[in-house]
Amino acid sequence: MVVNAAVPGICRDCLYRTGPGERRCRACGSPRVLRHPELETLSLAHIDCDAFYAAVEKRDNPELRDKPVIIGGGKRGVVSTACYIARIKGVRSAMPMFKALQACPEAIVIKPDMEKYARVGREVRAMMLALTPLVEPLSIDEAFLDLSGTERLHGASPAMVLARFARQVEEEIGITVSIGLSYCKFLAKVASDLQKPRGFSVIGRADALTFLAEQPVTAIWGVGKTFAATLSADGIHTIGQLQHMERADLMRRYGTMGDRLYRLSRGQDDRKVEPRGEAKSVSSETTFDRDLSRVDDLLPILRALSERVSARLKKAGIGGRTVVLKLKTADFRIRTRSRQLANPTRLADRIFSAGFDMLKREADGTMFRLIGIGVSDLTDAALADPPDLVDRLSYKRALAEGAIDALREKYGRQAVETGYTFGRGKRLRPEVED
Ligand SMILES: [Mg+2]
Repeated sequence: MVVNAAVPGICRDCLYRTGPGERRCRACGSPRVLRHPELETLSLAHIDCDAFYAAVEKRDNPELRDKPVIIGGGKRGVVSTACYIARIKGVRSAMPMFKALQACPEAIVIKPDMEKYARVGREVRAMMLALTPLVEPLSIDEAFLDLSGTERLHGASPAMVLARFARQVEEEIGITVSIGLSYCKFLAKVASDLQKPRGFSVIGRADALTFLAEQPVTAIWGVGKTFAATLSADGIHTIGQLQHMERADLMRRYGTMGDRLYRLSRGQDDRKVEPRGEAKSVSSETTFDRDLSRVDDLLPILRALSERVSARLKKAGIGGRTVVLKLKTADFRIRTRSRQLANPTRLADRIFSAGFDMLKREADGTMFRLIGIGVSDLTDAALADPPDLVDRLSYKRALAEGAIDALREKYGRQAVETGYTFGRGKRLRPEVED
């Protein structure tokens, strides 16, 4: 990041436009002056509430303000959120509660009130939507915003609008946010994390490569501990090293992930901000020419439908947490079964295997005229199939699936048949209806 006193800035406390060369705001004396050469031209933001659950509890009980607060406990006995005072003592999210209390015995533990957090989250979301319709929520307390083309509407640059937004959230909702401003999603998200809490960081086109070069590979989306260890074993530790590697080499070593490493290490990310529209689920179904009852007959169809759903999820940049199987019996009764996965997915393999498990139970000799599979509980693809949480085998399958997708894109769907669809007669290959 360039912190350059020679460029004009915006005071984050009073929103005064500060001239070049002034360390503090000329109007209010605040040192919280935002400066960046590209400040007035960048428009892609990531906004993340600071220690959200804990902040809401502190807002509602001022006695907690200067105390270490941990939200968590309950069934799983882990930390959901720790306030910044507790974090200084070493408490982290997802830490078992007994460990957290070893690190910070004086912490006040509060059971999460998800309904309250959802309500506050919706208030923050509504304020975001007043800035632009292009708001893509990633979770209850964070979202991407595309503010390009809103200057005229707001009479101010996106940077000014965002500084105003942060102040407004503090005044009206009583919690704080951190903002990342850049030209793409990847860097906006990285930036919002740089100065938490109450941060506002800017990464421009001119400083992206230099900034990234010094970052560890884990700064890249989708690179968790396991994959970082793989890279480390290959001698790759920083994004700067990736910047010097060829795309072909990275793809040969790491499949589609290699392509991602190539692009993101160079600050190339053309994913659009996708407002969460009306779509509540993505599914695909087909009606048979003649009724079917045997698992062997239904399986290849289920596989093909899973692949169709997966392709649509991948194209839309989303994943889903719940897999839904739909069957219609010969006498037109509809059976719906659903299963929630540990993590959202967009992989055909995971959708298919959840569907297969449910189908096995339903295939009791009943004649069916229709089968469908889909996913609901949609989330951003970034949250789907975390490499660290999927076992090694399925991670390899995910890489293979990425390779299959790439081939299909190049040579067409028929180029690659999986074991389940391969060799089946045309009659059984479903004409898929969406
Ligand atoms: Mg947050």
